[in-house]
Amino acid sequence: MGSVEYVYPDDGISLISGSLRVHQAHYTLRLQKRYLGELTISSQKRFSEQDLFVHEQSIGCLAHYLKNALDFRAMEKMAFYDALTGVMNRKSLDELLPKETKRAERHGYDLSVMMIDIDNFKIINDQVGHIGGDQILKHASKAIRQVLRISDLPFRFGGDEFVLILPNTDLVGARSAAKQIMASLGNSAVEINNHSITPRVSIGLASYRHGEHHEELIRRSDQALYDAKKNGRNCIS
Ligand code: GH3
Ligand code: MG
Repeated sequence: MGSVEYVYPDDGISLISGSLRVHQAHYTLRLQKRYLGELTISSQKRFSEQDLFVHEQSIGCLAHYLKNALDFRAMEKMAFYDALTGVMNRKSLDELLPKETKRAERHGYDLSVMMIDIDNFKIINDQVGHIGGDQILKHASKAIRQVLRISDLPFRFGGDEFVLILPNTDLVGARSAAKQIMASLGNSAVEINNHSITPRVSIGLASYRHGEHHEELIRRSDQALYDAKKNGRNCIS
Protein backbone atom coordinates (compact mmCIF):
# COMPACT_ATOMS: atom_id res chain seq x y z
CA MET A 1 0.00 0.00 0.00
CA GLY A 2 1.07 3.56 -0.61
CA SER A 3 -0.37 7.03 -1.09
CA VAL A 4 -1.24 9.66 -3.66
CA GLU A 5 -1.02 13.30 -2.58
CA TYR A 6 -2.18 16.26 -4.67
CA VAL A 7 -1.47 19.88 -3.74
CA TYR A 8 -2.53 23.02 -5.60
CA PRO A 9 -1.24 25.85 -3.39
CA ASP A 10 -2.77 28.72 -5.44
CA ASP A 11 -6.23 27.54 -4.42
CA GLY A 12 -5.44 25.97 -1.06
CA ILE A 13 -6.17 22.44 -2.32
CA SER A 14 -4.41 19.64 -0.46
CA LEU A 15 -5.67 16.07 -0.87
CA ILE A 16 -4.12 12.83 0.29
CA SER A 17 -5.30 9.27 -0.13
CA GLY A 18 -3.53 6.45 1.75
CA SER A 19 -0.56 6.72 4.12
CA LEU A 20 2.73 8.30 3.10
CA ARG A 21 5.47 5.67 2.58
CA VAL A 22 9.21 5.92 2.37
CA HIS A 23 9.68 5.57 -1.41
CA GLN A 24 8.31 8.63 -3.15
CA ALA A 25 8.06 10.03 -6.66
CA HIS A 26 7.23 13.71 -6.98
CA TYR A 27 5.84 15.44 -10.09
CA THR A 28 5.20 19.10 -10.82
CA LEU A 29 2.18 19.03 -13.13
CA ARG A 30 2.06 21.28 -16.19
CA LEU A 31 -0.03 21.23 -19.34
CA GLN A 32 0.98 23.59 -22.15
CA LYS A 33 2.99 25.67 -19.66
CA ARG A 34 -0.07 25.94 -17.35
CA TYR A 35 0.83 25.03 -13.76
CA LEU A 36 -1.57 22.40 -12.36
CA GLY A 37 -0.07 21.57 -8.97
CA GLU A 38 2.13 18.96 -7.32
CA LEU A 39 1.59 15.22 -7.22
CA THR A 40 3.47 12.85 -4.90
CA ILE A 41 3.03 9.10 -5.01
CA SER A 42 4.59 6.89 -2.38
CA SER A 43 5.07 3.18 -1.93
CA GLN A 44 6.49 0.70 0.59
CA LYS A 45 8.74 -0.78 -2.08
CA ARG A 46 11.15 0.99 -4.39
CA PHE A 47 9.63 2.06 -7.75
CA SER A 48 10.94 0.12 -10.75
CA GLU A 49 11.53 1.84 -14.11
CA GLN A 50 8.41 0.03 -15.37
CA ASP A 51 6.33 1.31 -12.38
CA LEU A 52 7.43 4.87 -13.06
CA PHE A 53 6.66 4.54 -16.78
CA VAL A 54 3.09 3.38 -16.03
CA HIS A 55 2.56 6.11 -13.43
CA GLU A 56 3.80 8.82 -15.78
CA GLN A 57 1.49 7.63 -18.57
CA SER A 58 -1.49 7.85 -16.18
CA ILE A 59 -0.40 11.26 -14.90
CA GLY A 60 -0.25 12.50 -18.52
CA CYS A 61 -3.97 11.65 -18.90
CA LEU A 62 -4.85 12.92 -15.44
CA ALA A 63 -3.42 16.37 -16.26
CA HIS A 64 -6.18 16.95 -18.87
CA TYR A 65 -8.96 16.08 -16.38
CA LEU A 66 -7.25 18.18 -13.72
CA LYS A 67 -7.09 21.24 -15.98
CA ASN A 68 -10.84 20.95 -16.71
CA ALA A 69 -11.65 20.48 -13.01
CA LEU A 70 -9.56 23.53 -12.00
CA ASP A 71 -11.17 25.64 -14.77
CA PHE A 72 -14.63 24.58 -13.60
CA ARG A 73 -13.75 25.43 -10.00
CA ALA A 74 -12.48 28.88 -11.05
CA MET A 75 -15.65 29.56 -13.07
CA GLU A 76 -17.83 28.47 -10.17
CA LYS A 77 -15.91 30.81 -7.88
CA MET A 78 -16.40 33.72 -10.30
CA ALA A 79 -20.13 33.03 -10.52
CA PHE A 80 -20.85 32.75 -6.80
CA TYR A 81 -18.17 34.81 -5.04
CA ASP A 82 -17.32 38.50 -5.03
CA ALA A 83 -13.90 38.93 -6.62
CA LEU A 84 -12.88 41.90 -4.42
CA THR A 85 -13.78 40.71 -0.93
CA GLY A 86 -13.89 36.92 -1.37
CA VAL A 87 -17.31 36.58 0.27
CA MET A 88 -20.32 35.23 -1.64
CA ASN A 89 -22.18 37.53 -4.02
CA ARG A 90 -25.80 38.62 -4.41
CA LYS A 91 -26.57 35.69 -6.73
CA SER A 92 -25.51 33.28 -3.97
CA LEU A 93 -27.69 35.14 -1.46
CA ASP A 94 -30.68 34.82 -3.80
CA GLU A 95 -30.02 31.11 -3.97
CA LEU A 96 -29.24 30.42 -0.30
CA LEU A 97 -31.71 32.63 1.59
CA PRO A 98 -34.85 30.70 0.45
CA LYS A 99 -33.09 27.42 1.32
CA GLU A 100 -31.98 28.64 4.75
CA THR A 101 -35.41 30.07 5.67
CA LYS A 102 -37.08 26.82 4.57
CA ARG A 103 -34.61 24.85 6.69
CA ALA A 104 -35.34 27.08 9.72
CA GLU A 105 -39.08 26.62 9.10
CA ARG A 106 -38.77 22.83 8.83
CA HIS A 107 -36.61 22.36 11.92
CA GLY A 108 -38.21 25.18 13.91
CA TYR A 109 -34.99 27.02 14.73
CA ASP A 110 -34.25 30.76 14.77
CA LEU A 111 -32.59 32.56 11.89
CA SER A 112 -31.54 36.19 11.63
CA VAL A 113 -30.42 38.42 8.81
CA MET A 114 -27.94 41.25 9.33
CA MET A 115 -27.54 44.06 6.81
CA ILE A 116 -24.35 46.13 7.14
CA ASP A 117 -23.59 49.33 5.24
CA ILE A 118 -20.41 51.40 5.58
CA ASP A 119 -21.11 54.94 6.77
CA ASN A 120 -20.19 57.83 4.46
CA PHE A 121 -18.28 55.57 2.12
CA LYS A 122 -18.50 58.17 -0.64
CA ILE A 123 -16.46 60.53 1.57
CA ILE A 124 -13.91 57.73 2.22
CA ASN A 125 -13.65 57.19 -1.55
CA ASP A 126 -13.11 60.92 -2.00
CA GLN A 127 -10.36 60.90 0.64
CA VAL A 128 -8.40 57.82 -0.43
CA GLY A 129 -9.54 57.23 -4.02
CA HIS A 130 -11.45 54.30 -5.45
CA ILE A 131 -8.53 51.86 -5.03
CA GLY A 132 -8.15 52.94 -1.39
CA GLY A 133 -11.92 52.49 -1.02
CA ASP A 134 -11.55 48.94 -2.32
CA GLN A 135 -8.97 48.30 0.42
CA ILE A 136 -11.51 49.45 3.01
CA LEU A 137 -14.11 47.07 1.58
CA LYS A 138 -11.62 44.18 1.89
CA HIS A 139 -10.76 45.25 5.43
CA ALA A 140 -14.45 45.42 6.40
CA SER A 141 -15.21 41.98 4.96
CA LYS A 142 -12.24 40.53 6.86
CA ALA A 143 -13.41 42.11 10.14
CA ILE A 144 -16.91 40.72 9.54
CA ARG A 145 -15.64 37.22 8.77
CA GLN A 146 -13.46 37.17 11.89
CA VAL A 147 -16.52 37.50 14.09
CA LEU A 148 -18.69 34.90 12.36
CA ARG A 149 -19.41 31.34 13.40
CA ILE A 150 -18.69 28.54 10.95
CA SER A 151 -22.41 28.19 10.07
CA ASP A 152 -22.91 31.93 9.39
CA LEU A 153 -23.05 33.00 5.75
CA PRO A 154 -21.59 36.36 4.61
CA PHE A 155 -22.44 38.02 1.27
CA ARG A 156 -21.56 41.25 -0.48
CA PHE A 157 -24.98 42.64 -1.33
CA GLY A 158 -23.52 45.28 -3.62
CA GLY A 159 -21.49 48.53 -3.28
CA ASP A 160 -20.57 49.04 0.38
CA GLU A 161 -23.28 46.75 1.71
CA PHE A 162 -22.93 43.27 3.22
CA VAL A 163 -25.62 40.79 4.26
CA LEU A 164 -25.19 37.98 6.76
CA ILE A 165 -27.46 34.99 7.22
CA LEU A 166 -27.16 33.77 10.82
CA PRO A 167 -28.77 30.34 11.24
CA ASN A 168 -29.70 29.24 14.76
CA THR A 169 -29.51 32.83 15.94
CA ASP A 170 -32.29 34.91 17.49
CA LEU A 171 -32.40 38.71 17.59
CA VAL A 172 -30.43 38.85 20.87
CA GLY A 173 -27.64 36.71 19.38
CA ALA A 174 -27.66 38.74 16.17
CA ARG A 175 -27.34 41.99 18.14
CA SER A 176 -24.38 40.56 20.04
CA ALA A 177 -22.69 39.57 16.73
CA ALA A 178 -23.40 43.05 15.34
CA LYS A 179 -21.76 44.66 18.40
CA GLN A 180 -18.69 42.44 17.93
CA ILE A 181 -18.42 43.48 14.27
CA MET A 182 -18.63 47.16 15.22
CA ALA A 183 -16.01 46.66 17.95
CA SER A 184 -13.71 44.76 15.60
CA LEU A 185 -13.93 47.54 12.99
CA GLY A 186 -13.58 50.26 15.62
CA ASN A 187 -10.36 48.75 16.94
CA SER A 188 -8.51 48.72 13.64
CA ALA A 189 -7.57 51.68 11.49
CA VAL A 190 -6.41 51.29 7.89
CA GLU A 191 -3.52 53.48 6.74
CA ILE A 192 -3.96 54.60 3.12
CA ASN A 193 -2.15 57.49 1.39
CA ASN A 194 -1.39 59.25 4.70
CA HIS A 195 -5.00 58.88 5.81
CA SER A 196 -5.89 56.79 8.83
CA ILE A 197 -9.35 55.40 8.19
CA THR A 198 -11.49 53.63 10.77
CA PRO A 199 -14.63 52.67 8.85
CA ARG A 200 -17.90 52.87 10.78
CA VAL A 201 -20.98 50.90 9.87
CA SER A 202 -24.72 51.01 10.35
CA ILE A 203 -26.44 47.68 10.92
CA GLY A 204 -30.02 46.53 10.41
CA LEU A 205 -31.28 43.30 11.99
CA ALA A 206 -34.33 41.15 11.41
CA SER A 207 -35.23 37.70 12.67
CA TYR A 208 -37.22 35.22 10.63
CA ARG A 209 -40.90 35.03 11.47
CA HIS A 210 -42.06 31.52 10.79
CA GLY A 211 -44.12 31.36 7.62
CA GLU A 212 -42.91 34.68 6.19
CA HIS A 213 -41.50 34.96 2.66
CA HIS A 214 -37.70 35.37 2.50
CA GLU A 215 -38.13 38.63 0.55
CA GLU A 216 -40.10 40.06 3.46
CA LEU A 217 -37.24 39.13 5.80
CA ILE A 218 -34.77 41.02 3.59
CA ARG A 219 -37.16 43.96 3.34
CA ARG A 220 -37.40 44.16 7.14
CA SER A 221 -33.61 44.04 7.60
CA ASP A 222 -33.27 46.75 4.93
CA GLN A 223 -35.85 48.87 6.76
CA ALA A 224 -33.90 48.36 10.02
CA LEU A 225 -30.70 49.49 8.26
CA TYR A 226 -32.54 52.55 6.97
CA ASP A 227 -33.64 53.30 10.56
CA ALA A 228 -30.02 52.94 11.79
CA LYS A 229 -28.89 55.48 9.16
CA LYS A 230 -31.75 57.79 10.16
CA ASN A 231 -30.78 57.47 13.84
CA GLY A 232 -27.38 59.02 13.11
CA ARG A 233 -25.35 56.09 11.67
CA ASN A 234 -22.69 54.00 13.51
CA CYS A 235 -25.47 52.14 15.31
CA ILE A 236 -27.60 48.99 15.27
CA SER A 237 -31.35 48.92 14.67
P1 GH3 B 1 -24.31 56.21 3.92
O1 GH3 B 1 -23.67 56.56 5.22
O2 GH3 B 1 -25.70 56.76 3.84
O3 GH3 B 1 -24.27 54.76 3.61
O4 GH3 B 1 -23.50 57.00 2.80
P2 GH3 B 1 -22.48 56.43 1.74
O5 GH3 B 1 -21.59 57.56 1.36
O6 GH3 B 1 -21.81 55.20 2.24
O7 GH3 B 1 -23.45 56.15 0.54
P3 GH3 B 1 -23.94 54.79 -0.09
O8 GH3 B 1 -23.84 53.67 0.87
O9 GH3 B 1 -25.30 55.06 -0.66
O10 GH3 B 1 -22.98 54.63 -1.34
C1 GH3 B 1 -21.99 53.70 -1.44
C2 GH3 B 1 -20.90 54.24 -2.32
O11 GH3 B 1 -19.94 53.19 -2.49
C3 GH3 B 1 -21.30 54.59 -3.73
C4 GH3 B 1 -20.14 54.23 -4.59
O12 GH3 B 1 -19.43 55.38 -4.94
C5 GH3 B 1 -19.24 53.40 -3.69
N1 GH3 B 1 -18.89 52.10 -4.22
C6 GH3 B 1 -19.73 51.14 -4.68
N2 GH3 B 1 -19.05 50.04 -5.05
C7 GH3 B 1 -17.73 50.30 -4.84
C8 GH3 B 1 -16.53 49.55 -5.03
O13 GH3 B 1 -16.51 48.38 -5.47
N3 GH3 B 1 -15.35 50.15 -4.66
C9 GH3 B 1 -15.32 51.41 -4.16
N4 GH3 B 1 -14.13 51.92 -3.83
N5 GH3 B 1 -16.43 52.15 -4.00
C10 GH3 B 1 -17.63 51.61 -4.32
MG1 MG C 1 -22.80 53.44 2.78
